[in-house]
Amino acid sequence: MKACYRLKMIRRAAKTMTTYAPSTMALHADATGTFSHEWDVAAPIGVTSTFERVNDEAGYVYSRSSAPTRSRCETVLAALETQGGVEAQALLYSSGLAAVHGALCALMSETPGAKRRLLIDGGYHGTHAVIASLNSAHVQLDVCGLSEPQPGDIVWLESPKNPTAELADVAAYASTDVIVDATLGPPPLQYPLTFGARLVVHSATKALAGHSDAVAGLVLCAADDPLASVLTKQREAFGAVPGSLETWLLLRSLRTLDLRVKRQTATAAAIVDWLRAGVPGVKAVLSAHGTDLAARQMPKGVGGTFAIELDDEAMARAFPRTLKLFKDATSLGGCESLAEWRRRYDDNVSPTLIRISVGLEDPDDLIADIQAALDKLRRTT
Ligand SMILES: *Cc1c(COP(=O)(O)O)cnc(C)c1O
Repeated sequence: MKACYRLKMIRRAAKTMTTYAPSTMALHADATGTFSHEWDVAAPIGVTSTFERVNDEAGYVYSRSSAPTRSRCETVLAALETQGGVEAQALLYSSGLAAVHGALCALMSETPGAKRRLLIDGGYHGTHAVIASLNSAHVQLDVCGLSEPQPGDIVWLESPKNPTAELADVAAYASTDVIVDATLGPPPLQYPLTFGARLVVHSATKALAGHSDAVAGLVLCAADDPLASVLTKQREAFGAVPGSLETWLLLRSLRTLDLRVKRQTATAAAIVDWLRAGVPGVKAVLSAHGTDLAARQMPKGVGGTFAIELDDEAMARAFPRTLKLFKDATSLGGCESLAEWRRRYDDNVSPTLIRISVGLEDPDDLIADIQAALDKLRRTT
């Protein structure tokens, strides 16, 4: 049965199954003879670090290079992205920031030694830390704000943006190398490759894993892009691969991704609609829900994360801990609703801003919780 581990067969299996909807693919993209060689319905967790050389062409060798549970999880992720219409390759990393690092290094290695402009505006603070670390190691990224791209530029778009929830118009930059951090808008909400992105990055720690129990990252590109093999080689060299347990948890979570993401999106939209109708204590609601760009780029909804600005900083600092159902914790995309005073981690964010990640609780309970916390704070602060 060792032959069932052949990588070539895995790729073929992914290719022949593009006719089902996302929720079906999440459960069946890996349900081929290639992976399901046992009677198990749930995927087994593979923990081996090395593989016996049963013959000279056996597929798996050493788990930093590739491993069955990881390939299986990547097969499902590639199939989910391929739903957008561009056949995708998926590579898992040890964290979202390892994926950010992998994506930038792969792109920079296409122009060795060249100084390239990197157009980027705001977004996740950790991404800026990766760029600064690369530059301190003599990678030449000339960091500029988002503007009209010139040939050779790299454009980094986070869409929706963390924590302000704005969307970036991916197609408007498609003439150059665009990397989209799509963490806040996982499939089936958007397919950046179809809008012209060269690479798509996710913190799989967030909605993809979805249960606040695994740290992992993901890079996607078109399967026929030469970057696919560059990414694979460089990941093997850097060694930033997720562990067995994290990979297995992620694969398990992907089975319910479609259900979770749609529910979180619908609940967030209901809360945003309620807030926009006017709630005392809330001076701004930051969400792309209802915008023209959302209708074009994210027709199924803009995800479960949005932000609000409260009347003053004292209220904003106290708000997350005054809530009962939302936990005062960083991160997003999990089953549990979270709220955080974002300024604690990011100096560039307004001191009245609260980032909210909606989980799987009942929408009415969440609205009542927000209302009660605001009422209490308006009486006491
Ligand atoms: C969390 C996050 C990251 C970093 O991911 P980790 O898995 O924490 O390394 C990158 N981009 C965005 C938009 C994020 O929210």
